[in-house]
Amino acid sequence: MPIASRVSQLHLSGIRTVMALAAERQKRGFPVIHMEVGQPDFPTPAHITEAGFAAARNGFTGYTPNAGVQSLRDSVAARVSTSSGIGVSGANVCITSGAVMALYLTLMAIIEPGDEVLVPDPGWPNYISAVEMAGGTVVPYKLDPSDGYWMDLDTLSSKVSPRCRAIMINYPSNPTGATVSVEKMLKLLKFVEDHNLQVISDEVYEDFVFEGAHVSALSHASRERVIMISGASKSYSMTGWRLGWVVAREEVIQAVSKLVEPIASCPSSVAQAAVEAAINGPQDCVAEMKAAYKRRAEIAVSILEPAGLLISKPTGAFYAMVDISNSNLNSDQFVRRLLEEKGVAAAPGETFGHSARSSIRISTAASDDDVREGCKRIRDFLSLGN
Ligand code: PLP
Repeated sequence: MPIASRVSQLHLSGIRTVMALAAERQKRGFPVIHMEVGQPDFPTPAHITEAGFAAARNGFTGYTPNAGVQSLRDSVAARVSTSSGIGVSGANVCITSGAVMALYLTLMAIIEPGDEVLVPDPGWPNYISAVEMAGGTVVPYKLDPSDGYWMDLDTLSSKVSPRCRAIMINYPSNPTGATVSVEKMLKLLKFVEDHNLQVISDEVYEDFVFEGAHVSALSHASRERVIMISGASKSYSMTGWRLGWVVAREEVIQAVSKLVEPIASCPSSVAQAAVEAAINGPQDCVAEMKAAYKRRAEIAVSILEPAGLLISKPTGAFYAMVDISNSNLNSDQFVRRLLEEKGVAAAPGETFGHSARSSIRISTAASDDDVREGCKRIRDFLSLGN
């Protein structure tokens, strides 16, 4: 029996390819500095893990409602109300198995086959696979590194066809580490209002803005316009617990909750208990992780910027883009050789979009020493004219 064509048509991220190559190299007995994946290097804080254990011990191990337990939906609503300054209730929240699922189900809920979705270039590769799996068509829009990875609204306007339904945005950004100002956000939100688009704002790095406050799309637009995606993976170093959420008007939340049923029935009960403890417990762990990511970004900048290799200074998240245009290699060849010859794993720029094909993305979610040593090796590799 043949495998369905949607499988071969799926665009998978080049990040996982490098992860596999790096693991294989380690198996051969060679050490690797891991800067390829957005995997926080901190353990989940102990009080959060303990809440998950306690839930399991106390028998909280059954199915929950599709949209998650009410107390967690309310906790997420309270968290979002505080950070965005607008009142959101539990009815505006659907808990999912990670932000990745929140994103996919949101697209399934709001687009018809053939509808178009504007997707950032460079941007997180899963936006493309999620739009395509939902039957939509991806329309990439370029982000300009010299303008803090922002978009030109006139060019964007020329890309909006009558079939265009939504625009994906992501600040703080993976892969660029860029954040957004209130002024820019307001301009974009006026644009989406004028073009009658839905904004899907992926804010999973909302807790890691190095200067000033995070600018949430929710704070500045009508509730009808914005669907916010976020989760616990990055904020609380809980990637493997698989817990995320959608925050939107009730109609969207009801649709997403319905779609949860055939895909997962509900999110994990014990993960929900742990995340509830995370949201309602002390937040110093988040502040400590943010301070570490900021410090590591500064280490990377101090090595790559003087060598003229940093494309733009990261202002949030835990990523930076490095210019490899003087290497005569495409980004895929570059990361393979960097791994083999210098023992550093990085992600090829091409996987984040055509505009990033002369760059690589480094993740600074690694120890200070690894970030320092990894950046030095990248600099030396490039300065040898590879
Ligand atoms: N959105 C962005 C921009 C990401 O970088 C990631 C993970 O790397 C996610 C969403 C997925 O988060 P989750 O682990 O909650 O599925």
